[in-house]
Amino acid sequence: MRVVVYGAGQLAQMMYLAGSPLGIQVEAVDVSNDTVVHPVSKQPLDITLAQAIETADALTVEFEHVPERLLEDAASAGKLMPNIESILVGADRVREKKLLEKMSVANCKHRIVTDVEQLDACVEALGEKLIIKSSRDGYDGYGQWRLSEAAELPALKNTLSDLDLQKVPLVVEQMMAFDRELSLIGVRNKQGDIRTYPLAENLHHQGQLHVSVAPATDTNDALQQQAHDIFTALAEGMDYVGVLAVELFQQGDKLYVNELAPRVHNSGHWSQSGAVTSQFENHLRAVCGLPLGDTAAIGPSAMVNIIGCSSFSRDLLSIDGSHLHWYGKSVREKRKMGHINVTTDSYENLGEKLMQLSQYLPLEYFPKLVGEAKRLKG
Ligand code: ATP
Ligand code: MG
Repeated sequence: MRVVVYGAGQLAQMMYLAGSPLGIQVEAVDVSNDTVVHPVSKQPLDITLAQAIETADALTVEFEHVPERLLEDAASAGKLMPNIESILVGADRVREKKLLEKMSVANCKHRIVTDVEQLDACVEALGEKLIIKSSRDGYDGYGQWRLSEAAELPALKNTLSDLDLQKVPLVVEQMMAFDRELSLIGVRNKQGDIRTYPLAENLHHQGQLHVSVAPATDTNDALQQQAHDIFTALAEGMDYVGVLAVELFQQGDKLYVNELAPRVHNSGHWSQSGAVTSQFENHLRAVCGLPLGDTAAIGPSAMVNIIGCSSFSRDLLSIDGSHLHWYGKSVREKRKMGHINVTTDSYENLGEKLMQLSQYLPLEYFPKLVGEAKRLKG
């Protein structure tokens, strides 16, 4: 079987690696120049994009910001999964909020803004602690602004005055005092079967994911069921096929959806060694119409992102249960370079191993690691 992935980054690479044992050949599309490349070497393959589309069993994406003309070409071939509407929901916060409202899925109180002068009304309706998000092309905390008190409003309006809000509106959200951030990775195949992974707890720093722990500590069946039900409503509502990531805020025992990612997701990387079937394999199974694999956790796992740093001791691999996944990119500030997965048999041991890991890493790039290690050790 052959699957073509739009996007040629680490997610396509990891899909390729997961597909090989199943005999699923994965090819990637470099969307900056419409060429088909090998997902690991990134070298151009001897095939045009039109030929790749023609011969593929399934077309899919590794990120939601694929140029719309490419998505439309892919959709018209009749084998784009997830479907174009679902991908566009992930790429546009206005569409995303409309979907959540339509499905009656709990999310942050918000307003859509098409003119900076509407911000006063937002403060009146939502309070003065706001997070303002560009509705398109934002990720890892880019394209976001914060308001902590009404007095900052004139300066904020000034900052935003250059934007064309008619074309790209803002989503203005009430700043939520959540207890923690979780995510649910789920998968739905062509036949409509659904499986969801255990909830992961995600630690961010400056808008970027640094550490995920899965299964999240302090969960219960009711919380997992609540997340599963949210996933099912959204996936069935969109007739979604593939892996869908749901980013959540937990407040008390209630979950609120922050955002959706119509693809495999960084907070699901732990599943490569911490679950019976990885999210990458399950995504390929789903789009190829194969039975889905078991999503159960093997034991408590952590995923530690390596961000903006390439020099550290590979001796960290001496820690039992640790695995390095390196993306082969040149180093840049705040760039995701790779990640480390650690799986073990108890949260206490996981904390112990993260503590060991911290001794091999330049900690200025890993601001969340030691605190989380200590928390898990208890
Ligand atoms: P991603 O890279 O996950 O796509 P992003 O930059 O697109 O991220 P969000 O996930 O919407 O944007 O926001 C980034 C982070 O900002 C969240 O993980 C959360 O920590 C914080 N945040 C976002 N919205 C809110 C909110 N309404 N209240 C409180 N914190 C928020
Ligand atoms: Mg996010």
